[in-house]
Amino acid sequence: MTDQTPPDLAAQPKLDIRIIPVTPLQQNTSLVWSRDTMEGVFIDPGGETDRLMAAAEQFGVRIIAVWLTHGHLDHAGAATAIKERTGCPIIGPHKDDQYLLDDIEAQGAKYGMADGKNVQPDKYLDEGDTLQLGQETFHVTHCPGHTPGHVVIYHTSGQLAFVGDVLFKGSIGRTDFPKGNHQQLIDSITKNLWPLGPNMRFVPGHGPMSTFGEERQSNAFVSDFALKGN
Ligand SMILES: [Zn+2]
Ligand SMILES: [Zn+2]
Repeated sequence: MTDQTPPDLAAQPKLDIRIIPVTPLQQNTSLVWSRDTMEGVFIDPGGETDRLMAAAEQFGVRIIAVWLTHGHLDHAGAATAIKERTGCPIIGPHKDDQYLLDDIEAQGAKYGMADGKNVQPDKYLDEGDTLQLGQETFHVTHCPGHTPGHVVIYHTSGQLAFVGDVLFKGSIGRTDFPKGNHQQLIDSITKNLWPLGPNMRFVPGHGPMSTFGEERQSNAFVSDFALKGN
């Protein structure tokens, strides 16, 4: 648990969340649950399955799904293990990231993160899809650029978005991988994320939280000032 975990979703008291950094890459796995039903999801469980399951147990949360923003090892590596333990479905990312989900074990061997397993989602996500957790509805927007099948999952009244490796506090996702596309990433951020409003807080795949408004002010890559004249 880290100090960046919001104490609650201020505008939405029916949800609770803890952010648990996992793997040597300090990837943020989110445990989000409904206080009404105590059903919860892991968003981007990248590794350290035992620790994640212990956290769910500690808070008395029954895991009903894994939600994935994209197919990279450090975000999806523990998805299959959690499905095997809980029987829950794996939902997301967009189908265009399946080639990455098929390559997790090979990547893990290369980078010394050997507990990752390949992933076959039970359902892919696409632009405009919704996800349900208790009474709460989350929305999905397709944000390619870092990977072709990257999605962002957000909760409107709680003003909280899970953006994976699209956007960070002060930075943006890498696009130097095969199939990465810098301009597509910029377009995803400015056309799909900024319209959600400046007060939308976000949990990035790595590092501290921020808001879209803060990044429009100060992010060296995608602030309104930096993009002026583009
Ligand atoms: Zn990534
Ligand atoms: Zn990452």
